[in-house]
Amino acid sequence: MLTTDKTKERVSIYQPEQEGLIFPEIPEFNSFSEEREYRKQHLVAATRAFGMHGFDYGFAGHLTVRDPERPELYWTNPMCVHFSQVKMSNLVLADHEGRVVEGEYAINRAGFVLHAAVHEEFPDVVAMCHAHTLYGTAWCATGRPLDMISQDAAAFYNKHAVIGASAGAVAVERESGWTVAKEIGRNRAVLHQNHGLLTTSRHSIDDAAFWFIALERACQQQLMVEATGIKPQLLSDKTAQYSQDNVGNDFIGWLHFQTLYSHIAATQPDMFE
Ligand SMILES: [Zn+2]
Repeated sequence: MLTTDKTKERVSIYQPEQEGLIFPEIPEFNSFSEEREYRKQHLVAATRAFGMHGFDYGFAGHLTVRDPERPELYWTNPMCVHFSQVKMSNLVLADHEGRVVEGEYAINRAGFVLHAAVHEEFPDVVAMCHAHTLYGTAWCATGRPLDMISQDAAAFYNKHAVIGASAGAVAVERESGWTVAKEIGRNRAVLHQNHGLLTTSRHSIDDAAFWFIALERACQQQLMVEATGIKPQLLSDKTAQYSQDNVGNDFIGWLHFQTLYSHIAATQPDMFE
């Protein structure tokens, strides 16, 4: 049986087959400047989503997305600006050496080292997120990967790693950045022991941000289960893989984030300033 073009375009079971319904679609761009505007807006929304989730810890935490025209440069949040106050006009464009190419604010040097190393080592990594979250950092202290305790956790099945190297050391030295960069770039998610969570995406900042939020939640759920002292029933490998294929891919990460984007864009219009 022939597949119609319309069917071919469906990359997920969540995309409606019925026509005329409101559903997020990945936009197409006519110019680099259009795409840049989109990436910056979604970076701002991702940063504010982190603020809404309480992921701030002083100046710690950084999100990056590559510039579409100059992929050796990436946009990031300004240092010492609360996640909830990041806006289009205070984003910073930086190069691999940590030099600010555009923008008025300084950038977090620790953030630069880690992100620059990953972006340089893996040219296809589009976006990356890192923060010192409460549950993620707590779970990272165990040095254990996540157990497959739920369908949500299955998004990280065989796609996350625990890194013990440079554990707990402030990642300001280039050496430290390179050591962890290789592991970070290979995985959707990394639990950096005694430090915090990191996510990367080859799809979008939306995807990296959503799976970061999901990762923090998975760490919280794992801690809650552990606290009961009851041994949890785990997903089988087959079920975990099935769940990941259907509800844990890059498109689904992007799609989940559109819910947050719409909410933030509607309720926090100063993000566009
Ligand atoms: Zn950190």
